[in-house]
Amino acid sequence: MVVGDFTQNVQTVVIGAGPGGYVAAIRAAQTGQEVVLIEKSNIGGVCLNWGCIPSKAMIEVSGLKYELKHAADMGLLIGDVELDMKKLHHWKDGIVTRLRNGIGTLLEKNEIERIEGTAKIADDKTIMVSSKSGLQRFAFENLILATGSRPRELSGIPFDDERIIDSSGALELEKVPERLLVVGAGSVGLEMALIYSKLGSVVTIIEAEDALLPNYEPELIRVLKKSLKVHNIKLMLGAQIESVKDGQVVIQHNGTEPLDADKVLVSIGRKPNSNDLGLEHLQIDLDEQGFVQVNSKMQTSNENVYAIGDLVRGPMLAHRASHMGKVAAEVISGKKSAFDNLAIPGVIFTDPEIATVGMTEAQAKEQGLDVKTGVFPFKALGRAMTMGNTEGLTKIVSDAETGTVLGVHIIGPHASDLIAEGALAVESALHVEDLSLTIHAHPTLPEGLGEAAEDIDRKAIHIFSPGK
Ligand code: FAD
Repeated sequence: MVVGDFTQNVQTVVIGAGPGGYVAAIRAAQTGQEVVLIEKSNIGGVCLNWGCIPSKAMIEVSGLKYELKHAADMGLLIGDVELDMKKLHHWKDGIVTRLRNGIGTLLEKNEIERIEGTAKIADDKTIMVSSKSGLQRFAFENLILATGSRPRELSGIPFDDERIIDSSGALELEKVPERLLVVGAGSVGLEMALIYSKLGSVVTIIEAEDALLPNYEPELIRVLKKSLKVHNIKLMLGAQIESVKDGQVVIQHNGTEPLDADKVLVSIGRKPNSNDLGLEHLQIDLDEQGFVQVNSKMQTSNENVYAIGDLVRGPMLAHRASHMGKVAAEVISGKKSAFDNLAIPGVIFTDPEIATVGMTEAQAKEQGLDVKTGVFPFKALGRAMTMGNTEGLTKIVSDAETGTVLGVHIIGPHASDLIAEGALAVESALHVEDLSLTIHAHPTLPEGLGEAAEDIDRKAIHIFSPGK
C-alpha cells in the first residue's frame, strides 16, 4: 500500500536519527531547510538507546557500589550494599526515555517532519519508507545518510541473545552473570568488564591482539592493566575464542583451554549499516568494508548525497557523528563548513577513565617531529587525594621546536571531563606555555594539566624532575 499514492518533494531527507542524523536535521532546520527525518527504531540511535547513555548509567551505579564497599577507609561504615537489577534498569531506562522525549520535542519545535519507518533508496532521487501504515515516497534534493553501525559477530559463533550477547544485550541483563567472558578489549569490552566485575561477576577478557589498546600511550596502559588486576579481571592477550559448546567456551591461547562462562559478550567492533539501503542506486563509493567515502564537506561521490557518523570510516564516536551532521547540514545551506578538525577526543569510561586527544608520542615521532613530553601523576594532586582517587597521570606531547601541544593523554579520575582542555589546546594549536600560564583553580584536578605542561621544561612544582 502506498500512503496517499504521491511523492512528497523534500529539500533535505535524513535517514537515521542517531546523534549524527538528529543533529544534522536540527542544524538543517535552523538554516531554513525543509527537513524529513526517517528513523526505523528509537530516536537517539545507538548512542542514546543502546550505547553511550545506558552504559554510562550502569558505570555510575557499579562505580557507586564499588566505592560504597570501599568507603570504610574514609570512615564511612555502610555494611552490605545490595543490588536490585530491576530498579537499576528502571532508573537507566528512565534517563533514556527522558532524553528521547527531549529530542522529540526539539524536532517538533524545529518543525522537522518525523517519519517512523525503514527507508530504502528507490532511485537516485527517491526514498521509499515502509512503516506500519504502508509505504511513503519522498523525492529529495539533498540526502544525508546517517544509518550508523551494528555489532560485528564472531565468525561461526553468531549472537543468540542468550549466552552469546552483544553490547545491547549486556545492558539489559536481568541478573549479574556469575562468570562473564568478554571477547575484545576495545572501549566497549573494557567498560562492560569493569561494570560487571564491580557488580559481582568473575570477568575474563580475551583479546586477539598481543597488546592492550596498542595505539595508546604505554604509560596509560600500565595504569589500566594494574586496575584490571585490582578488579580481579583476567586479561588474556593474543587469545581467541575457538568454539562454544554446551556452555563451555574453548579459548586458543598458547594451545587450547576450556573456560566456563554464563555469558559471552562479543565486543569485537562494529560494521557500517550500508547494506540493504539501496545505495547502488546512488552510485556512491564505499570502501572494502562498506564504509561510505566522503570528502571534508561530508559529500559522497554523488554531491547531493552526504554521509556522516559511524557510516564513515574513523573513530565511532557520538560527538564525531554530531559534528559531521552539522557540517553536512551547513554545507547544504551554502555555508563553507568542513570537517577539518585536528582533534577528536576519545574517552574510555574505565576505572580510572582514559581520555586522549591528538597525537601520541610515537605517532608524532613517526611523522618525523622532534617531541618533548611532560607527565604529571594524579597522586601529587591534593584534590585527587581528598577524593581517595589518585591512580593515573596526565601526559602532554609537544613539538620541541615550536612548543605546540600535539596531544594530551590522561588516565585518572574525571579524565573524561579534563580532556576538554586538551581538546581545546590541540584544536587551537595552543602552545605548552598557554597551558602552564593559565591559572588553574586549587585544589582541582585540572591542575595536573598545568603541571604536566610545566614538566615539559622540567619545571613542575609538585614533582621533582631531575635533569632540567
Ligand atoms: P547510530 O547511533 O547507529 O544511529 C543510526 C540510526 O539509523 C539508528 O537509530 C538506526 O535505527 C537508524 N537506521 C538505520 N538504517 C535505517 C533505515 N534504513 N531506515 C531508517 N532508519 C535507519 N560514543 C561516544 O562518543 N561515547 C560513548 O561513551 C560511547 N559509548 C558507547 C557504548 C556502547 C555500548 C556502544 C555500542 C557505542 C558507544 N558509543 C559511544 C558509540 C556511539 O554510540 C556511536 O558512535 C554513535 O551512536 C554513532 O551515531 P550515528 O548517528 O552515526 O549512528
